[in-house]
Amino acid sequence: MELKEIKIYYIAGYSRSGSTLLDILIGSANETFSCGEICFLPENGIRDNEFCSCGKLVNDCIFWKQVIHRWNKVRTFSNEEYINIYKKYFRNKRLFLFLWRIYFPNVELIAFFEDTKRLYKIIWQENHNKIIVDSSKSPYVLLMLKKIGFNVTTIHIVRNLRGVLFSTSKFLESNPSDGVEKDIVPRSKANVILTWVLTNSLIFLFAKGTNLLKISYDKLLSDPFTTLKAFSHLTFSDPQLFHFKGPFFPGHLVAGGRVRMKKEIFIEENLMKDENIQLGKVIDFLCRSLDKIFK
Ligand SMILES: [Zn+2]
Repeated sequence: MELKEIKIYYIAGYSRSGSTLLDILIGSANETFSCGEICFLPENGIRDNEFCSCGKLVNDCIFWKQVIHRWNKVRTFSNEEYINIYKKYFRNKRLFLFLWRIYFPNVELIAFFEDTKRLYKIIWQENHNKIIVDSSKSPYVLLMLKKIGFNVTTIHIVRNLRGVLFSTSKFLESNPSDGVEKDIVPRSKANVILTWVLTNSLIFLFAKGTNLLKISYDKLLSDPFTTLKAFSHLTFSDPQLFHFKGPFFPGHLVAGGRVRMKKEIFIEENLMKDENIQLGKVIDFLCRSLDKIFK
């Protein structure tokens, strides 16, 4: 079997940008299968046994249980070793080490790529050869999947920076069955602005050589039917659902936003209109300028 046969719709973007919702919407097509954030399967799924969107714990979920069982039989690294290698390279602080190692991999990373290859292959076989929808978001995972040789389509979702700043300023208390595994604490504006710029720039660079679709978060919420046209090559059993903004039903998503834990999902426009967000003149000006770059 050729690796190119395995198609991945990779949803890349910054956090709180609608990637989980988009995963569920694309996953409602006949040819696709929603997986959520596959890069967190080893940690949040296998080790911490968090909830799958089907309502079962990941290790009890009918889909992931089988995937994990088969992967355990063929993988080189233990789950803990795999998580540690992921954490060692796939992060902003290790950007230069990551870039160096992706082009000149050492023995450890070669084996890590092999394990990753095995995992996606099993997911693809277990979902009956459907397109894997992976909303891992991370630009680093995107570059790895491209390097491994899968048939990757990058779906770059961008939310305006003002909306992201507003969303990341809120405190969310943990509620595992609701999809919030840990308390989410507000983040500093400077950190959010820097990492938002870095993440979207890296996605832009790393997506080169893959098919690229760009989706605006704001447009997705206000006019999902038009956004859907970017996926006209897929067959949706009822495209009218996009007109009515739902209901959509999540399949087996691991990790990802809390929207995935709802039984029925409707596309809701934010109650807080991004236009009304008050950030102070300087930050507001900076955000509007940066937003234009990734429009
Ligand atoms: Zn499940």
